Amino acid sequence: MKQIYAIGIGLIGGSLAKDIKRHDSEVVVHGISRKDATLNEALSLNLIDKKATLDDISKADLVIVSIPVDATVKLLPTILDKIPETALVIDAGSTKEAICKAVENHPKRRNFLAMHPIAGTEFSGPSAAIDNLFVGKTNIICEVEKTAFKLQEKALKLFEAIGMRIRYMNPVAHDKHIAYVSHLSHISSFMLGKTVIEKEKNERDIFDMAGSGFASTVRLAKSSPEMWTPIFKQNKANVIETLEEYINNLIHFKTFMEQDDFEAVFNEMRETNHIKDILNGIN
Ligand code: NAP
Repeated sequence: MKQIYAIGIGLIGGSLAKDIKRHDSEVVVHGISRKDATLNEALSLNLIDKKATLDDISKADLVIVSIPVDATVKLLPTILDKIPETALVIDAGSTKEAICKAVENHPKRRNFLAMHPIAGTEFSGPSAAIDNLFVGKTNIICEVEKTAFKLQEKALKLFEAIGMRIRYMNPVAHDKHIAYVSHLSHISSFMLGKTVIEKEKNERDIFDMAGSGFASTVRLAKSSPEMWTPIFKQNKANVIETLEEYINNLIHFKTFMEQDDFEAVFNEMRETNHIKDILNGIN
């Protein structure tokens, strides 16, 4: 897989390009993006070797799509139209059902592998790309049986080289589960940040009093709205369901406080401490 075309070279596309280049010095990474400034930044950071356009993917061995999920749904059929018969296309989108559906009947469906690397930070754009982002992280692969066997093998070799663990899941289950462990965490972080900012108009005071607990809980509120709005839109039903359950828990907690039922408050927290055992080993 020597000619790699990275469509989107922000945090995920750029980090994938970095790791792949480090593991195989012979690959040439061609960057494709909407803005020329993004490509220039990616070139200067050495994430890509050359600039390219969508028409150039007719020469690709591998195409990596790491753009917002609504843009992926729109562009993926065209990408499959343009690639040669032997190329593999992978996408890193954080939702999977709409993306898989967009190409379910495409004549080159077998050239596509749907994945979601559970790795990231709150930063975006080429400058957010980092080495070894994927080491020890889980990569969820959806509908693997719909990808040509030889291309599955190529993809798995690549994921192994950059240190990822593989899990297989269907797109519907993926979107349902990820709403709890990723999408809800982002909304709760954004809304916690909003609540504090609205109350404490003087941001200096917030900064002076903020401990590491506050900083780690609102970390995700620094994430890109351009990337997250399409995710919430595509996963609307699941996200609303998780929000209802979360809001109910908040209301319960508030009611215990109002009723001076601090035994119930204690028990809520004691029961939730079990998260330590569940998360043990996850970094
Ligand atoms: P990012 O850092 O913001 O990079 C996005 C890239 O897509 C940029 O190169 C941007 O370039 C391009 N882009 C933005 N809007 C576009 C549009 N409408 N059409 C075409 N290109 C567009 O985002 P990211 O964090 O790498 O996320 C990329 C994908 O990975 C998303 O699908 C996301 O769901 C998924 N993902 C993210 C994380 C995470 O933690 N961030 C984790 C796993 C998976 P221009 O500025 O030139 O447009």
